[in-house]
Amino acid sequence: MHATSEHEVRRQVVDVSRRMLRSGLVTGTSGNVSARVDDRVLITPSGVDYEQMLPDQLATLDLHDGAVLDAPLPPSSEAPLHLAVYRGSEDARAVVHTHAPWATALGLVRDTLPSVHYAIRALGGPVRVAPYATFGSPELAAHVSEALRERRGALMRNHGAVAYGGDLEEATQNAEKLEWLCQLYCRAAALGEPAELTMAELEDVARSAQQTGYRL
Ligand code: 13P
Ligand code: ZN
Repeated sequence: MHATSEHEVRRQVVDVSRRMLRSGLVTGTSGNVSARVDDRVLITPSGVDYEQMLPDQLATLDLHDGAVLDAPLPPSSEAPLHLAVYRGSEDARAVVHTHAPWATALGLVRDTLPSVHYAIRALGGPVRVAPYATFGSPELAAHVSEALRERRGALMRNHGAVAYGGDLEEATQNAEKLEWLCQLYCRAAALGEPAELTMAELEDVARSAQQTGYRL
C-alpha cells in the first residue's frame, strides 16, 4: 500500500475538522486538528471557520524544534500541545482537540473517567483529567502529555479533551468514543455509583479483540 500523499492528508484534516464541528464536539472555531507526515506536523490555522477552511491554509511545523516551516495563516494556538503529543508517542500520527460538552463537564468534577464500558480499552484504560493551564501554554502541553501516559485520550480541566490515533480516522474515532464514554458515565453517575471494569477485564477485551479481529 502506498503512503498517503500530503495533499490527501491535508484534505483529511479539513474533513475531520468539519466532522468535529457537525457532530457537536466543538462549537464555532474552537478545537484543532493535526497530522504527522514524516517529521513534519500539519495543523489547522487559528480561529478559522471550519466550513470555510481550505487544505492549503494548514500550517507546517517541524516536529523536533517546532519551527514554523510554512504558514499561510497563523497556526493553531495549541501547536505546543499537538507537538507534545507526537513527541510523547511514536504511535501518534494524528491529534484531535475538542471542547466536547460531556467530556468537558466530567473534567470539571472528576479526576478520571473510570472504565465504565469495555470500549475504553481503545483509549488504553481509565482516562485522566489534565490539570488546568491557559490555552496554548507550554504548561498545558506538559499537563496533557503527562495525562496521556499509556493512553490515547485525555480530558482537560475547564477546557475540553484530546485524542490521538495511528491516522486521522482513528484519532477522530477515539475523540468520538471518548465523548460517548463521558456521556455514558455522566448519565450513569446521575443515577448512582457506576460499575467499573478492572484492568484485568480490559486486558481480556484486548486479547479477545486481537484473536477475533474485532475493532474496538
Ligand atoms: P485555535 O483556533 O487557535 O486552534 O484554538 C482553539 C482552541 O481550542 C484553543 O484551545
Ligand atoms: Zn481548546
